[in-house]
Amino acid sequence: MQAERSLEPPSTPAAPGRGRAGWRLPRLGMTPVGWTVLGVSAAALPLGYWPVAFVLVHVWLLYPMLRGPCQWFGPVVTEFRPAGREVWLTIDDGPDPVETPAILAELAAHDAKATFFVIGAKAARWPELIRAIQAAGHGLGNHTQRHPHRWFWCHSPRRIAAEVDDCAQTLAAITGAAPPLFRSPVGIKNIFVHPLLRARGLPLVCWTTRGLDGTSRNVRAIVARILKRVRPGAIILLHEGHGTAQETLPRLLGHLRQDGYRCVLPPAERLLAAGRPSTR
Ligand SMILES: [Zn+2]
Repeated sequence: MQAERSLEPPSTPAAPGRGRAGWRLPRLGMTPVGWTVLGVSAAALPLGYWPVAFVLVHVWLLYPMLRGPCQWFGPVVTEFRPAGREVWLTIDDGPDPVETPAILAELAAHDAKATFFVIGAKAARWPELIRAIQAAGHGLGNHTQRHPHRWFWCHSPRRIAAEVDDCAQTLAAITGAAPPLFRSPVGIKNIFVHPLLRARGLPLVCWTTRGLDGTSRNVRAIVARILKRVRPGAIILLHEGHGTAQETLPRLLGHLRQDGYRCVLPPAERLLAAGRPSTR
């Protein structure tokens, strides 16, 4: 089992994608060369086709923005290289004064480790919970300062930098170190996110499987949804502060144990930005 300090940022934000042929074209399309080719091609179209080109360009941009695991803008960690039947449990949107202590107790009872992607403003309000997470040997990740999930897609580079840096500073003031990982709100990203994270040496971590527990309250369905896509090396996404974690977690951990899985914190060199869609 890896300690949190093993999650140092790698020299590059994440291992490169596996280079599936189908992903090369979108990646090229997101470079200045790709945009030039796209622009010249659109301009060469007869006037009547311009609305079609307009729609296509927006789909071209919106798809990687809204689909968390999509790697068209750059590498996104969607799984890790396991050593046996290992999974990585990640818990977003905390800390929460009611659910975080219960989650910590449940993880301890199952000898499981997790990474908490926390919101800076909440961490500043409940710093003792951040210290408790750290003391229990779990990992911490940056999940922005204010969690602007509705508008993150259209944030300017300056506002994205403020979200990332404010959260890093908040956590560094509490724990003594900025977290080595970043997850954007609801997995949303725009063209400014990757260059900024690259400059800070922060991998963008997404997930392999999730139960949609941010919106659903059906615990049985949440766990079933997660288990459907669990495999060795999977990154599991859960949320706290939404009222379901205390029921979902024991059920999920019980199933994982039954299936022989261990919840670990993978070291940075085993994080993979796989070029395959892996979530719903
Ligand atoms: Zn979130």
